[in-house]
Amino acid sequence: MTVKHIPATPGYSLAQPYVDGLLHCLIRFQTCGACGRAQTLAHDACQHCGAEQLSWSDSAGLGTVHAVTVVGRAPSEAFRPLAPYTLVIVTLDEGARVMGHASPGIKIGDRVVAGFFDHLGQTLIRFEVAPD
Ligand SMILES: [Zn+2]
Repeated sequence: MTVKHIPATPGYSLAQPYVDGLLHCLIRFQTCGACGRAQTLAHDACQHCGAEQLSWSDSAGLGTVHAVTVVGRAPSEAFRPLAPYTLVIVTLDEGARVMGHASPGIKIGDRVVAGFFDHLGQTLIRFEVAPD
């Protein structure tokens, strides 16, 4: 049996548009050209219908908190200085879900707006309660 090995293209990442968006303080998501639904982070096919016609868009950064957790023990040395910290999964108004840091006390159902902060050279998302 022959196993065909397909080498990865050096420097290519499916998530590159998402990562580049964060550097410009933008949350980017994929929209399916076939069914019109939105998804994050980066996939090579639509998670809803399997179509491969995906395009990237910039989110307005507004959404609703879907889930909240408080991390008491950071998973790595890099995040230890931040602990304890709040993580949320937010359903963006465009329909895609994204994970980010959040202000302490944020609750499921809260309307939030995305902000950004730098942690050890990496741009991370921090959600705050949106003003009315
Ligand atoms: Zn689709």
